[in-house]
Amino acid sequence: SAYTPARIITEYKNLYKIQTDSTIYLAEVTGKFRHQSQVREDYPAVGDWVMVSLPDGEGHAMIHEVLERKSKFSRKAAGELTNEQIVAANIDTAFLVMSLNHDFNLRRMERYLIAAWESGANPVIVLSKADLCENSDKKAGEASAAAMGVPVLVTSAYEGTGLETLKTYIDEGMTVAVMGSSGVGKSSIINALIGEEKMLVNDIREDDSKGKHTTTHRELIMLPEKGVIIDTPGMRELQLWESDSGLSQGFQDIEALAGSCQFRDCSHETEPGCAIQQAIEDGELEQDRYDSYVKLQKELAYLDRKSNKREQI
Ligand code: GDP
Ligand code: ZN
Repeated sequence: SAYTPARIITEYKNLYKIQTDSTIYLAEVTGKFRHQSQVREDYPAVGDWVMVSLPDGEGHAMIHEVLERKSKFSRKAAGELTNEQIVAANIDTAFLVMSLNHDFNLRRMERYLIAAWESGANPVIVLSKADLCENSDKKAGEASAAAMGVPVLVTSAYEGTGLETLKTYIDEGMTVAVMGSSGVGKSSIINALIGEEKMLVNDIREDDSKGKHTTTHRELIMLPEKGVIIDTPGMRELQLWESDSGLSQGFQDIEALAGSCQFRDCSHETEPGCAIQQAIEDGELEQDRYDSYVKLQKELAYLDRKSNKREQI
């Protein structure tokens, strides 16, 4: 029987969610993969096109072959330098997001560009949070001068500016990804692209402690107008690996404050003499900025648990 083309939507431990032109299935790789390949890179990843045989009735679809990748974002798997892990495959356009306030750093932008070029995807620089920046034109000019011909867009998810222009970089049949450090506004941009309606359809939603809705594991989503967006947890890790070196550098103010808390192991929550809570109260530190810092710390701790070794681009 003939094989059917399908795309990997989600990767679980030994299982994949795939989509054919009409249906979503759970799928597993054939024994051939385990026999012939010890290399993780050879296994399917989110975004891959694969050839499958479909189950008749119950059971999983079987993945027989991974088609050649047009592009791939990968990172070194822990411990084995020759063993690459594909984070996302077949991305056409990578929106590399840098905020116009705290995250703006041309050197980081250059690292993102290098990573995108290495992957085979076309980069577009997105300067976010224009509403928080008084000289966004000047910064956009600096970024353009350093971006070696790559388009530079100025956006504000809050004011809705620049998002229509951003959409013009998404053509029919394209797969796009939104990448950048934690807190720069990627989710806000993705939500604007997806639209509220779609967010409800992809209904794996969680309420965080503030009662705010966050959508997790949305991975590969059809955009309402055209194109597909990949947003995997692995993608977020990738961002962190790339921006790692800028981490403490980017949050020097907060690390300095933490050094003057009354208790050395202060969790900056309810302790007396907490310099961070004080600074927030005094308006010297933005709550948002502190939240980004906490989010990064958590992601970093998670990565540390997963691997003691972080590679850096
Ligand atoms: P992510 O971690 O990159 O996905 O960033 P989020 O989209 O979660 O945004 C991080 C924080 O920045 C949130 O508090 C957002 O409300 C805020 N934010 C996102 N976009 C904008 C923007 O265009 N302007 C301003 N002022 N804040 C924004
Ligand atoms: Zn503290």
